Amino acid sequence: MFPLRTRYRPRLALLAALVLSGLTGCGAPDDTLNVYSARQEVLIKPLLDRFTAETGIAVNLVTGDGDALLARLRNEGDNSPADLLLTIDAGNLYRAQAANVLQPVRSDTLYAGSPSYLRSDEDYWYGLSVRARVIVYAPERVDPASLGDYAALADPAWKGRICVRSSGNIYNQSMVAGMLASKGQEATDAWLAGFVENFARAPQGGDRDQIKAVAAGQCDVALVNSYYLGAMLQSDDAKEYEPAQQVALFWPNQGVGGTHINISGAGVTRATRQPDRARQLIEFLLREDSQRWYAEVNSEFPVRVGVEPSALLASWGPFEANSLNVSELGRLNAEAVKAMDRARWP
Ligand code: FE
Repeated sequence: MFPLRTRYRPRLALLAALVLSGLTGCGAPDDTLNVYSARQEVLIKPLLDRFTAETGIAVNLVTGDGDALLARLRNEGDNSPADLLLTIDAGNLYRAQAANVLQPVRSDTLYAGSPSYLRSDEDYWYGLSVRARVIVYAPERVDPASLGDYAALADPAWKGRICVRSSGNIYNQSMVAGMLASKGQEATDAWLAGFVENFARAPQGGDRDQIKAVAAGQCDVALVNSYYLGAMLQSDDAKEYEPAQQVALFWPNQGVGGTHINISGAGVTRATRQPDRARQLIEFLLREDSQRWYAEVNSEFPVRVGVEPSALLASWGPFEANSLNVSELGRLNAEAVKAMDRARWP
């Protein structure tokens, strides 16, 4: 008996290690879906709880910074416990696709939920919500009739009047990528040169800070993602809602290609051992009732056609959105970064 027992010891140790890793969350049990999410827990957790209640499929949410989660997925490779990546901006989703950590998934339900221009054109990821990069302005200093498209912000009339965050930010990179797609490199270079010349200050802070700077009179216009204005307007904190109430929203590029839009979205990982369940979760997130909740809580627009935006977003009026496939924003990202560097956008 004794010699046998010693021979079994390594196996027992291995078994104990496996059980422990399951309990500590390093690798949740196989019937749990692991979601790596760049969105805050409060903005997605209630929806995942509803999915679990309906399907019996448990979901383990790992929340973190988008770049950090992508780095983690790359490092874990085929051993990643992640089944789904949920992140913001088509530029980031495309990076994940290019890093070979996602796999294409096809289903008519997905196609019906996420319009073709708001998802990967190779089926690697699907848009879940829409944000627009809009102009906010100080109504007492800016006549909205003087605003038009993004290109007009390169006019010397705007010298020293524009606030925008740094070129390292993916939102700006995707916006420039969109311009490259519609106008080409020469026109984009010319625009960037004039635009950067008009900055009121060296880029600093996030989009909320640009809204606050317009309200504080540090600049007259700013480029920001629409949901920041929505979130600030609905905030209980006076430091957020007061500046938001002092600015107005302008939809750029109406009648000339539409406002630059982007998405938050999700893709199934290459490493998943349960691709069907992972797909099922994206299908659930694209369902009408999920779309209404998810868009509203994130102050974003639903991707699903026919789902109405919240009353606040609807109050901003209808707008023409650019219809470029958002995959192009990822494909042109490197070129956009180079163009911004050439223009010395800090
Ligand atoms: Fe954001």
